[in-house]
Amino acid sequence: MSAIDEVKQRIDIADVIGQYAALKKAGRNLTALCPFHSEKHPSFFVYPEQQSWHCFGACNTGGDVFAFIMKKEGLDFGEALRLLAQRAGVTLPSRVESGGRKEEKEEFYKVNDAAALYFHNLLLNSPAAAKAKSYVEKRGFTARTITDFQIGFSLDSWDALKLYLMERGHSEKTLITAGLLYEDEKGKTSDRFRGKLMIPIRDIRGRVTGFGARVLDDSEPKYKNSPQSPTFDKSGTLYGIDRAAAEIRKQDKAIIMEGYMDVIMAHQCGVTNAVASMGTAITETQVNILKKLSKNLILSLDADAAGEEAMLRTVGYENIIGAEIRVIRLPEGKDPDEVIKEDINVWNTLVTQAIPLIDFLFEKTVVKLDLTTARDKSGAVDRLLPILAAINDPIRQAHYLQKLAALVKVDMNTIKASLSRLKPAPARRRTTAPKPAAAGTPRPLVSSVREEYFLALLLQHPELKNREEDLSIYIVNSENREIFHVWQDAADILSLKERIDPAIHEHIDAIVNKNLPGARNNIEGRFNDCVMELRKTYLRNLAARRAESGEAGVDTARLEEDVKISNQLRELDSRKSQKRNSSFGRTRR
Ligand SMILES: [Zn+2]
Repeated sequence: MSAIDEVKQRIDIADVIGQYAALKKAGRNLTALCPFHSEKHPSFFVYPEQQSWHCFGACNTGGDVFAFIMKKEGLDFGEALRLLAQRAGVTLPSRVESGGRKEEKEEFYKVNDAAALYFHNLLLNSPAAAKAKSYVEKRGFTARTITDFQIGFSLDSWDALKLYLMERGHSEKTLITAGLLYEDEKGKTSDRFRGKLMIPIRDIRGRVTGFGARVLDDSEPKYKNSPQSPTFDKSGTLYGIDRAAAEIRKQDKAIIMEGYMDVIMAHQCGVTNAVASMGTAITETQVNILKKLSKNLILSLDADAAGEEAMLRTVGYENIIGAEIRVIRLPEGKDPDEVIKEDINVWNTLVTQAIPLIDFLFEKTVVKLDLTTARDKSGAVDRLLPILAAINDPIRQAHYLQKLAALVKVDMNTIKASLSRLKPAPARRRTTAPKPAAAGTPRPLVSSVREEYFLALLLQHPELKNREEDLSIYIVNSENREIFHVWQDAADILSLKERIDPAIHEHIDAIVNKNLPGARNNIEGRFNDCVMELRKTYLRNLAARRAESGEAGVDTARLEEDVKISNQLRELDSRKSQKRNSSFGRTRR
């Protein structure tokens, strides 16, 4: 679940708005004197089921909880999101202050590059690096590897790097922001990395974005990375991608390992399509980077270390790439770099024998359980069923449901019944209304699916941008609306992201990579259809809400407005049926 979804799930709109307005019950909904304009009779409504609000009076506007806070507190979307996240106790990806500008970023790449060279020269030439040198030798790295990966060493000093880089014209502020220095409470700065083996981390273009550092004694933690900075984002980093990208494309296969040491050894031994995920769980951003190179992803991770939550997410990534992710089964207690170093042929065999992730999860579950007992049977179902529920492809899902049924020796119908109890599957969208009202069924958030389709068309086909009509009023979700607005004058996806809060980046990636079914032609026609559907949903919601809020008093302006809305709806319907007749029964969803 994305951080934004988590905020939405934890926050109840009635609680939030209740702090700004005296809400009174009105049927299933709540009403108040509008907190934005002055009035004598309440025309402001809150809809707990849809987690939205609307003012039918002078404002004639509404939206979700973010839109409310933005308007009330005069904040932009990112600020409102952060305010509510804090209230909900949700941690968001950090927002890098003013780091968005390209020229500023260049400065950080430059300083990182200078630091990498400095550390590397120290490892090669400084007597103080003796311990580090013997460590890399013991590890089995050749001189060529040390140069290729620009492995380095940081002196055990509080200010050696600081003095070196400041002498070369870099400001202390730049060094702090780049994460090379840290600042204590009193404002005193020191070198962040001291007496460590230094591994420069590069992006796909080969620029140094940050560092990984390893201790040279037995202290913990063994590894430490650069903090988040304008250039370094751990969750979006794949170590080794600069050297592996071309090979991944050529071999149409990527091996994903856990740590940089694994990757360095892999490359030294000729496994040049290996990258590291910088942690046990791979992220959606990483999958999106790899997917452009190959859909053939093979994990070489310690499965026990990765939590079930991470595995579940990984199964979700299969839906994104539209292919199975496979897992290499390593011999008990061995790291990938050991296996590779010992015998490359053994490694190559293990790669060809990699099994689908889901089969791997079955194996892992089975060894822990005694499937002759009723308790462990239901334990297996509890563990595996949510994973199977996350599979989008119905054929693959059916295959694994059968496998599960056979495994626990329970008939397929029972398994299917349990599955339907689980549904809706763990998905990105929130699935339940927070406080189900006494009457009526919670409305599914269909509009957000259509909104995402709308945005996917827009982001993937920039030529659709900048229509005269303001389409943003049809967008209900604030994060979607924010993307829409910023996109109107963003040159490309990269600059869109630079100008938008990092908490929304994952959502943008999902939209950009959305598979748009159907022909590539007639994009504009499809877009127009989509806009029409959005407009209709908007009008229908508006009509429904006006009807519900009817008891608030009827006036003529209101009636006129109602008539206008229903006319617009009728017009849309007739346009749609004309279209259908003229398109030879072309079906549309
Ligand atoms: Zn109002």
